[in-house]
Amino acid sequence: MVTSLDSSSKVSDQKIREVIKVMPPDFSMTSSILKLCRWAATYYNHPIGEVVSNALPGLIRKGVNPRSTVEYLCLTRKGRQIKLNELKRAPAQRHLLKLLQSKNLERNELKTADIKSATIRALVSKAWATWQSSSFDQSSKFQLKAVNDEGILLNYEQQFALRNMQKTGNYLLQGVTGSGKTEVYFQLIEPLLNAGRQALVLVPEIGLTPQTITRFAARFNVEIAVLHSSISERERAKGWLRAKEGSVGIVLGTRSAVFAPLANPGIIIVDEEHDTSYKQQDGFRYSARDLAVIRGQFESCSVVLGSATPSLESLRNVEAKKYQHLFLSQRPQGSTQEHYQLVDTRHIEKREGLTQPLINSINQELQSGNQVLVFLNRRGFAPVMMCSSCGWIFQCPRCDARLTYHLQQNELVCHHCGTIRPHNNLCQACGEHQVAAIGLGTQRIEQTLKTLFKSFPVLRIDRDSTRRKDSMITLINRVNRGDPAILVGTQLLAKGHHFPDVTLVAILDIDNAFYSTDYRALERLGQLILQVGGRAGRAEKPGRVMIQTEFASQPLLKKLIDEGYSAFAKEILKERLLQQLPPYHFHALIRAEANTAELAQNFLESILTEETYTATVDLLGPIPALMEKKAGKFRYLIILTSKDRNSLRKELSKRIALAEQSKLTRKVRWSVDVDPVDLF
Ligand SMILES: [Zn+2]
Ligand SMILES: [Zn+2]
Repeated sequence: MVTSLDSSSKVSDQKIREVIKVMPPDFSMTSSILKLCRWAATYYNHPIGEVVSNALPGLIRKGVNPRSTVEYLCLTRKGRQIKLNELKRAPAQRHLLKLLQSKNLERNELKTADIKSATIRALVSKAWATWQSSSFDQSSKFQLKAVNDEGILLNYEQQFALRNMQKTGNYLLQGVTGSGKTEVYFQLIEPLLNAGRQALVLVPEIGLTPQTITRFAARFNVEIAVLHSSISERERAKGWLRAKEGSVGIVLGTRSAVFAPLANPGIIIVDEEHDTSYKQQDGFRYSARDLAVIRGQFESCSVVLGSATPSLESLRNVEAKKYQHLFLSQRPQGSTQEHYQLVDTRHIEKREGLTQPLINSINQELQSGNQVLVFLNRRGFAPVMMCSSCGWIFQCPRCDARLTYHLQQNELVCHHCGTIRPHNNLCQACGEHQVAAIGLGTQRIEQTLKTLFKSFPVLRIDRDSTRRKDSMITLINRVNRGDPAILVGTQLLAKGHHFPDVTLVAILDIDNAFYSTDYRALERLGQLILQVGGRAGRAEKPGRVMIQTEFASQPLLKKLIDEGYSAFAKEILKERLLQQLPPYHFHALIRAEANTAELAQNFLESILTEETYTATVDLLGPIPALMEKKAGKFRYLIILTSKDRNSLRKELSKRIALAEQSKLTRKVRWSVDVDPVDLF
């Protein structure tokens, strides 16, 4: 990729490459995206080549025009009526017919499926199959044709927020769940679309549901490009081109869409900005939220970060006067704020993880015809399998992690590396057949609730129950019919879905966060509680949230419940300032993983040897990652901390140079992470 031109170079002739191929002009990166890539390469200390290649769709990178027409083979009406067993004596034709019954096939797909051209000719000559071609629409500037916003009246807070976001700038829009954040987004976008300017809307991976897309499409009669990880290469490249040429009015996408080029950018919105999925966790580790803010500066357009529970980083930027803070604290008229209640489990007996007050409340809601949501952020049946005879615990052989028991498959599964062991109830240490399942997973709670509430359906929604395509939609539709039911789920359930008939949310087993060595654990817990709690009573029915915990008198938890998120966040920020942690001090990590702990440690030692430390940068390590062993690799890290970004970057560059020169550099896998979101 050519980023700029020059007539002379200091690089030796052997290292200079010829231009291999000139791409069509519309494949080039816009200058502002290239500028963003350069900025990111410096900020994240990452090679520019990889940054650029992250920012481009695969097909564009390879020079394949997604618009070129595609020829494909499909069945004719006659061909669709042929029964497969009529072709017993022509197995090759029968095979092709069977393939075509499930989908049309492009030439290269036919080739991969090893279909002979004689077979294709045979079907075509019998008029059972035919060649068709499709082409993509030509480019044209988008035009907003209609807006469907009849009868929507903004409340005072929404109007205030909207009025204050008219000037170009950075805004943090903190709105409680159900306070009409999306409506504010819509009314920000509308005049821009009318003026021919485009909107880029980022949402977390888990939140880009068909409902989200439908909501935008129903409001604005304009072409929308949807960019996320599960669309095809061709769709992605096409969306990229149509955004760049200005054919689409709105780009709706997940993390990597922050690099989508826009012909005439009007606004960038990052919804649920606190969500950690905005941070890429491997390779080029960038934060799409942070890059969105930088991009807004480069393209002179407003950036709106929205959340019910803003990240501490964004709250810190408000403190530092970098963002303007706007609030939406009211729900639409008639609906009330959910009420939080802590159930202290130190003094109340639990039955399979449920206290009597909670069981009574669930019963009461179901009897009144309402729905109940039971939240437990742990899938499987039980997180610990222990021998009752000798106390041996089943560990993953490849990770520092326990195996989780899954009931239906009767398997022990590692949630970190995917290792699966059949469960034969046999202790590997003492040979006794007395293995007990300890602790709670969603499958276990599901089972208990089914026994307790026999006449009501119990629907489990987690990664295991929604593996099949469309099973999520089927489950959600069933819930939205509104009949009394219990939903059991992980955070998959808590994000992006609306359950208007849920009047009680029960939150179980959150106590791990209080023991965690990760300093972000409590911040995350607070965000999670409010996100999950926000599912309750979203319509006219008032909602209740019951939290079972041993830490009912923990001051931060009480603050969250009694005074709300802002007071809670302020308290944590105070602690972070005292402890010199982010967002007041900045972190960068150098991670190393190797086949032995010693190798990973030695490698990191070797890049710390040089004595010339920068006074303003602290170096800590090598220390083991929070999970020292994962998927058979030993993982260590160095933490660089500084109050000053420039010193941090310089020190990091110095250590990276040492890492590249280290004799051990080929024996370990190492990576750099600026502004890490965890220490795993
Ligand atoms: Zn044993
Ligand atoms: Zn494992």
